[in-house]
Amino acid sequence: MPTILKETYPTAKKEHICEFCACKIHIGQKYIRQTNVYDGTKYDFITHQECKEVARKLRMYDDCDEEGLDGESFRENLDSYVYANHYDDEADDVCSDWQLSHYEIAKKVLEELKTENKYEQKRNHTGH
Ligand SMILES: [Zn+2]
Repeated sequence: MPTILKETYPTAKKEHICEFCACKIHIGQKYIRQTNVYDGTKYDFITHQECKEVARKLRMYDDCDEEGLDGESFRENLDSYVYANHYDDEADDVCSDWQLSHYEIAKKVLEELKTENKYEQKRNHTGH
């Protein structure tokens, strides 16, 4: 795994491309800049906050190789999540409301995970 030298949460002063979802980070948007060292090379890894969070929540880091999680595996992981949870058998395709950019999917998955947690807590609380 790469060594993380530091992690900062700057506000974008110019447009960046998220290394995970490959979508734009807009000017004025807060993002994550991680300075890593791998194999003697120092580099910055730039992502949306949501993309990083969804990677952690879906445990994508558990089965990535020693170079760390890359954008390609991130997007594959997201796709397979949508495929597993939001596949429309009738249309024989991913549900139309999930045919989005990977950044939009990441945000939608986060929302969904939050809602599910709430649901679980409520269920446990009322004992059903
Ligand atoms: Zn992203």
